[in-house]
Amino acid sequence: MNPLLELHSIGKEYKKGNQRFQAVTNVNISIERGETFGLIGESGSGKSTIGKMITGLEPPSSGELLYEGQPLWKAGKFSGLKPGEMQIVFQDPQSSLDPRMRVQAIITEPLLALPKELRREKGSPERLHELIRRVGLKPEHLNRYPHEFSGGQRQRIAIARALITDPSFVVLDEPTSALDVSVQANVLNLLQELKRERNLTYLFISHNMSVIRYMCDRMSVMQKGRIVETGSVGEIFNNPSDPYTQTLLSSLPTLQKKVDTHV
Ligand code: ADP
Ligand code: MG
Repeated sequence: MNPLLELHSIGKEYKKGNQRFQAVTNVNISIERGETFGLIGESGSGKSTIGKMITGLEPPSSGELLYEGQPLWKAGKFSGLKPGEMQIVFQDPQSSLDPRMRVQAIITEPLLALPKELRREKGSPERLHELIRRVGLKPEHLNRYPHEFSGGQRQRIAIARALITDPSFVVLDEPTSALDVSVQANVLNLLQELKRERNLTYLFISHNMSVIRYMCDRMSVMQKGRIVETGSVGEIFNNPSDPYTQTLLSSLPTLQKKVDTHV
C-alpha cells in the first residue's frame, strides 16, 4: 500500500534580513495510514517548519510533498485536499486560541473552509455536543472564553477544533509540552483514544523522548534541519545508531535498559 504522506527531499529556506537561512534540508519521510510518526529534535531543529509545510502554512523551498500520491503544493499554492482533511494542534493553547472568541466559535471556525451544506452537517448542535463531551468538556463550556479554562482544558478545546472537520491527518506540534506533567498523560491518552475511534494518522512532534516512546510507532530524529536517523521506536530506543540520538537517550534518567521491539 502507498504511504498516506510522503516528503521527498524537502527543504525550507527562510530569509532573515538579507541573510538566507536553511531551516530544513533534504528531509525524506513517509507516513503510513493509521500510524503515529514521531519527529524529535532540539529546539530550532526544524520540526515545526515541517509541520507547517505539511498543513499548508509555509511552502517548501524545494522537494515534493505527496498526500495519497498527489502533490500538496503546486507553484507555491497549497491545494488538492478536501477542506479540513488535514489539521494541526499547536503547543501553546494560550496563544493558539483567540481570547476574544467564545469556545463554540473557536471550535467551529475551521468549518468556514467547508461548503455550506457540509458546514451545517458537521457543525450541528448534536455533533458539537458529542465532540465537546468526547474531549472531556461540557456543553455549557461552549459559551465561555479561553481564559476561563486551565491549560489542559484549553488543549482539549484545541483538539476539538482540529477534529470538527473530521480530518484524516493531524499534526500534533508539542501538544502537551506546555502542560503540567499530571495533565500531560491525560491528554496523551485522549489523543490515542481519538486516533483509534476516528482512524486518524498523526505526525507527533516533540522534544521529549519519553513522550515519543509512549505515543509513536516510527520516528525520525532531527538535528539542525536534517534527519539523522529514522526507524521504529523500538529499534531506535534499543539500538540508536546516530551519536546525537544516543545523546538524547542518555539524557533520559528513567529510561529502561531494554524496550520491547515491535516490528
Ligand atoms: P523547532 O520546531 O524544531 O523548534 P522551527 O521549525 O520552529 O524549529 O525553526 C527552525 C529554524 O527556523 C529556527 O532557527 C528558527 O529560528 C527558524 N525559523 C522558523 N520560522 C521562521 C520564520 N518565519 N522566519 C525566519 N526563520 C524562521
Ligand atoms: Mg517547534
